[in-house]
Amino acid sequence: MSTPNLTILLAEDDPFTRAMLEQILSDQGYRIKMAENGQEALKTFYASNDIDLIITDMNMPEMNGLELIRRLRDEGNNLPIIVLTSNLEIKTAVSAIYSGANAYLLKDENIEDTFVHAIEHAWDHYQLAREKHRLMIKLEEKNQELERLSFLDGLTGISNRRYFDMMIEKEWRRAKRDKFPIAIAMIDIDYFKFYNDSYGHQAGDDCLKQVANALKEGMFRPGDLIARYGGEEFVAVMPQNGLKGAMVVAERMQQNIRQLALPHRKSDVSPHITVSIGLACMVPDQRSQTAQLIERADTCLYSAKDQGRNRICHSE
Ligand code: GH3
Ligand code: MG
Ligand code: MG
Ligand code: MG
Repeated sequence: MSTPNLTILLAEDDPFTRAMLEQILSDQGYRIKMAENGQEALKTFYASNDIDLIITDMNMPEMNGLELIRRLRDEGNNLPIIVLTSNLEIKTAVSAIYSGANAYLLKDENIEDTFVHAIEHAWDHYQLAREKHRLMIKLEEKNQELERLSFLDGLTGISNRRYFDMMIEKEWRRAKRDKFPIAIAMIDIDYFKFYNDSYGHQAGDDCLKQVANALKEGMFRPGDLIARYGGEEFVAVMPQNGLKGAMVVAERMQQNIRQLALPHRKSDVSPHITVSIGLACMVPDQRSQTAQLIERADTCLYSAKDQGRNRICHSE
């Protein structure tokens, strides 16, 4: 393996050792920056922006190796640090490693071999750790994106049934706790089967997209939700909204759809695409459940269909 092209900061108080290490490092082709103690090393480190790896002695005046390592790690630097010392005490080695050193080497007669090997090893390890970190972040981003997509309807781009199922329970719990009303609207396109039969499935899909968008634009509050409930049916959730407020939203949605003016030659109720809407509102109590609210809105939607479509019906 070729020697990585690194800039190494060397902290060593003994001039003889320093000269020897400098020789070994420059023979390997490394760029070297020198410091005579921890304090100086820290200064040089922060004054440069090209230090890849640090090699430090343990016993040095002013600031020793251990303190240097702790300072660097505390300040969030994760570059590889190799300790090089004549201290044989295991306790010192353990505290160096605990403080964040990546390797602990003894100054002995084999120093040249072990030293160069340790640098390469520490550098490889660091690169791998960085790559792992990068991949973990990417994976996390992908997971978040997948989660977001799993809550969206593929055709219309609005929230899907899965998201609605989750959010309605959440909003219900909140409304129960705060004793607020929660309103929902079930919205169904009128004579949509005829629309498909008459204009084709592609046009049907396109119509669904436009209707979804018109419905979405009828909602202004940040807590409101519009979702595709299934087929050509949509559901709107309006937390902290009573029947009167929900009615305003429903009328605005109908108005938006009227403005789309999508021709529907097979509709019995209008020359354009229309929707029927069923509204229900409840203040959740200990016994009630979301299913009741949905059922009430559904019943109202059927009433709207029964009464001739293109209208809004609501429960008391
Ligand atoms: P009503 O006024 O009583 O609601 O009548 P309708 O024809 O709208 O109701 P019905 O339930 O009979 O038909 C719904 C139609 O919606 C049938 C189905 O083919 C169509 N549909 C459901 N999902 C999609 C879709 O994703 N794309 C398209 N193009 N059509 C869809
Ligand atoms: Mg020393
Ligand atoms: Mg329909
Ligand atoms: Mg339907």
